[in-house]
Amino acid sequence: MEAVQTSKQAINLENKYGAHNYHPLPVVLAKGEGVYLWDVEGKKYFDFLSAYSAVNQGHCHPRIIQTLKDQAEKLTLTSRAFFNDVLGPYEKYITDYFGFEKVLPMNTGAEGVETAIKICRKWAYEVKGIPEKDAVIVVCENNFHGRTTTIISFSNDLGARKNFGPYTPGFEKIAYDDIDALATILKNKNVAGFLVEPIQGEAGVYTPADDYLSKAAALCRENNVLFIADEIQTGIARTGSLLAVCGNCTCEGHCEQQSTYVRPDILILGKAISGGVYPVSAVLCDNKIMDVIQPGQHGSTFGGNPLGSQVAMTALEVVRDEKLAQNARKLGEIFRERMNAFIKTVDLVKLVRGKGLLNAIVINDTEDSSTAWDICVALKENGLLAKPTHGNIIRFAPPLVMTEEQLHECCDIIEKTIRQFTA
Ligand SMILES: *Cc1c(COP(=O)(O)O)cnc(C)c1O
Repeated sequence: MEAVQTSKQAINLENKYGAHNYHPLPVVLAKGEGVYLWDVEGKKYFDFLSAYSAVNQGHCHPRIIQTLKDQAEKLTLTSRAFFNDVLGPYEKYITDYFGFEKVLPMNTGAEGVETAIKICRKWAYEVKGIPEKDAVIVVCENNFHGRTTTIISFSNDLGARKNFGPYTPGFEKIAYDDIDALATILKNKNVAGFLVEPIQGEAGVYTPADDYLSKAAALCRENNVLFIADEIQTGIARTGSLLAVCGNCTCEGHCEQQSTYVRPDILILGKAISGGVYPVSAVLCDNKIMDVIQPGQHGSTFGGNPLGSQVAMTALEVVRDEKLAQNARKLGEIFRERMNAFIKTVDLVKLVRGKGLLNAIVINDTEDSSTAWDICVALKENGLLAKPTHGNIIRFAPPLVMTEEQLHECCDIIEKTIRQFTA
């Protein structure tokens, strides 16, 4: 096994030996620290993607890495055939942290979503009393919940779906941020759950009306339908509060007293729950829902392993200790203020939107043009890494450990780069 010497070598190897299931920006990263990444040639970049918000705590956070090392030398995996001495403390820690009675530990985000779907369906038949096989889960158009066969069955992204059928039945789509559409579909007594992203990240950082989530949760409650929040991307301080469903609360933890807090019946977390160090996901809910899952009915060899559990505890502690939600909120306001002022001076950017440090700019060009991609390539040349998302939209989501000074430096790079395209 030989280490690559140049970016070109690494790209050639990936192209030749790896499935072409991604279309990466042409940069080969070799090192990360905090808000910075370095490529194979040693060029330094600001990370403005944070591995799709998995690295909220910054790259190679020393506390998280120390935990990983310590636990790796003790015990990594036993499977759930036996108990282990980290899972219990982790389960207590994460349920206290987010204010739920139970957690089901998994590894990837998609597995978390699959788990929530299974719990919801079983609850529908065994608690709500929907006739077996009739349960419907309502989802939103332009959703992104992962890549498994069932999840792509309710996607409307052609690339994600085409030629992967037959699709899993039992899902119905409504428009996002449309409370009337939800009210209408909930007239169907076979609806068991409503699965929703508090902000649609992949779709282009679509932020719904301020009262959408609270109204949706209330409608679900009235109709005995589970409100399932996919906070895999929006959660863990990204949007300026611990969870996006916390609304405008900036406290360091979970607090149901806050009038802005919308409590999901099922909460799905992933990505930053481990600070990008290890794949960890979690599904949280109370006993009256989680108790439908009994031995043999769901699981994963790696889910709840001591290494991931220990890493997740430290990663969540870092979020609290370093006040990352507060920082994301403060920097997010500065970012949007600067972008809004900048947009007034250029025609190429239509708008900036987002919450906390989950933001996007919409490029003023046709959806199928390559302008957003070309801007991202130029941003890379200028030392900042971001990636276009659906349509002509660029998502900006730096690690939450960024300082105000660094953010201003990044805004300078973004403005300078976009101006290159208007000349
Ligand atoms: C990333 C993401 C997922 C899928 O997570 P994976 O770890 O990639 O399987 C699901 N939902 C949302 C909202 C996401 O952003």
